[in-house]
Amino acid sequence: SKKPPLLQSFLSLVSRRVSHLAQQQYDVIVVGGGHAGTEAAAAAARVGAETLLVTQKINTVGALSCNPSLGGVGKGHLVKEVDALDGLCGRAGDWAGIHFSILNRSKGPAVWGPRAQLDRQRYREFIQSELLSTPGLTVLEGSVEELLVTEPNPEEPGRHRVTGIRLANGSHPISASSVVLTTGTFLSGSLFMGQTTSPGGRIGDAPSSAGLSHTLRERLGLRIGRLRTGTPPRIVKDSVDLSLADLHPPDSHPTPFSFLNTRTRCKPEEQLPCYLTRTNAGVERVVRESLHLNHHIQEDIKGPRYCPSIESRVLRFPGRRHQVWLEPEGVTSDLLYPQGLSMTMPPDIQLRLIREIPAMHRAEIHTPGYGVQYDFVCPTQLSPALQVKSTQGLFLAGQINGTTGYEEAAAQGLWAGVNAARWARAMPPVALSRTESYIGVLIDDLVSRGVTEPYRMFTSRAEFRTYLRPDNADLRLTLKGFEEVGCVSSLRYQEAVRVRDSLQDALAALQALAQSSSKWRKKLPDIRMSENKCTILSGVELLQHNVSFEMLASAFPECLSPYIEFSQRLNIEAVYNLHCDKQKKEMERIQKEENMSLPQDIDYFSLPVSLSQEVREILDRVRPSTLGSAARLHGITPAAVVNLLGYVVHTG
Ligand code: FAD
Repeated sequence: SKKPPLLQSFLSLVSRRVSHLAQQQYDVIVVGGGHAGTEAAAAAARVGAETLLVTQKINTVGALSCNPSLGGVGKGHLVKEVDALDGLCGRAGDWAGIHFSILNRSKGPAVWGPRAQLDRQRYREFIQSELLSTPGLTVLEGSVEELLVTEPNPEEPGRHRVTGIRLANGSHPISASSVVLTTGTFLSGSLFMGQTTSPGGRIGDAPSSAGLSHTLRERLGLRIGRLRTGTPPRIVKDSVDLSLADLHPPDSHPTPFSFLNTRTRCKPEEQLPCYLTRTNAGVERVVRESLHLNHHIQEDIKGPRYCPSIESRVLRFPGRRHQVWLEPEGVTSDLLYPQGLSMTMPPDIQLRLIREIPAMHRAEIHTPGYGVQYDFVCPTQLSPALQVKSTQGLFLAGQINGTTGYEEAAAQGLWAGVNAARWARAMPPVALSRTESYIGVLIDDLVSRGVTEPYRMFTSRAEFRTYLRPDNADLRLTLKGFEEVGCVSSLRYQEAVRVRDSLQDALAALQALAQSSSKWRKKLPDIRMSENKCTILSGVELLQHNVSFEMLASAFPECLSPYIEFSQRLNIEAVYNLHCDKQKKEMERIQKEENMSLPQDIDYFSLPVSLSQEVREILDRVRPSTLGSAARLHGITPAAVVNLLGYVVHTG
């Protein structure tokens, strides 16, 4: 990958005066330079829209507000899909990653979670340099004070149209056909530490102006909710005794996120380790003793269930020793990020708490942890194109829609940017379905079910898991992204076509190798298969029986060696083809079994099927009478319904 140019050249480009810009009309204006905004702006420009990205501070464009990491189970799928649609975050992860690992490797490749620990500064620099070199995209430092909208057209009551923005410095309005709002945790944001509360979107950053909230709430009449999140203190690395924590090395061969990269910038031997330690009774005691000094935790506002604060973990699961990962913040950074220790008590108590953990008994805090509460727009008010239904040309993406996480924000940002550009160019909206992508699952969940707590992606949310794999995101999305959506470069498209054609040719060559099991045994004496000599098996069927493509290629080099670079993909493809067909049939069955009764005495907590704790809690509370009513419950994933159906049928 190319080296990002110096930040300085970026800054000089974007320091254009607002008075020059104010004369101009843009196709698309994106508000906010976080993970949603950067993908939205880049995607809109790729689709061919003249785009302006306005953000409060240039030097925070692409900033990782919380954990310095990308991907993971479910989230890694989103990164691969954003990359397949030519987005930025996958390549940025490959550039900035300093510790790569595939999570969930003991399970099937459909639910592997590509993840990387990142160097914060490198990540930001990469994103900034990419935006700088995107044709048709201008970046401007400024705070958007007001969203300009028309009064509803008498012929379309209740339907406004966006016409542009006005900046906080009182300059002229800047007009645009569409506006994408990606203000993250900044909308009416308040920061919490101990008993202190102050306005802010993130530490060191002011909240989004009240004018913006006012337009959304009062002028457009949108339903707004409130959520919260928090971040841990950053710890001085030299003050931690890492010999008292367990070393967790990265994978020996880093796997890139991007389909365009065969290697990561960080060489295998340059990767940095992470460390694992645990909380103890001392930590629990400090949390309990300081609850009265901790306003954030007392507030009755929902926080991220799957990334909870140490206070929530202790209160919910007393007596447990909770994991704390000590993660590097960058190659040259002196800090460690203690994942699992998000906290909002006063700074002196934060210090007392971390020093209860042996590895941190002399630790120093560089920046204390804090919490943030912010407004979000209830996402059921959006169309699948992420456009506000009641306001033409207004699109929302990221944390403003009630999600949490960089990957969820990036995925929505890309899709909102695509549709904002298409709207501006009078092209019809495009949608992604649940059956073709995790992005489709994410958007469908948001717009059709809404959120009651910060939403994050899990593989269990997708019903077609065996097809929606990280390894095949390019085949699922790159071709469509080029041919139908217009957000993929021809270079990437050509590469995806080459991959698709090669895989098809390789599978045809494997099918053509059909022969009896006795002949296979002669060729490959070590393989195990049925004793029936007459069984005819193709090369694809052998792959389904745990024979690797590499073994077959060494036995039949003349027809298979041209495809050796696709070995891993072919091993996975052959096995999953079977499952994909089975899954489609399961979904058809669910539609048929809509009226199947669910026993009222089921103990959902001990049901021996794969259901998340969240799903078990909902089913236990509501006790739906039929499968159909379970499927319609808020928070019940389609995948959970498949598993429930399997259980009920099995137990009669
Ligand atoms: P952000 O990354 O927040 O970007 C918003 C951007 O909009 C910023 O650049 C801001 O300057 C700009 N902006 C806002 N208002 C205006 C305006 N009026 N005019 C111009 N620009 C504006 N995620 C997790 O997955 N797990 C966690 O534990 C977690 N903890 C977090 C803790 C804290 C304290 C914070 C702040 C965030 C946390 N996150 C966490 C969330 C994660 O940072 C977000 O999910 C992600 O950054 C959302 O991306 P976004 O693009 O929607 O918004």
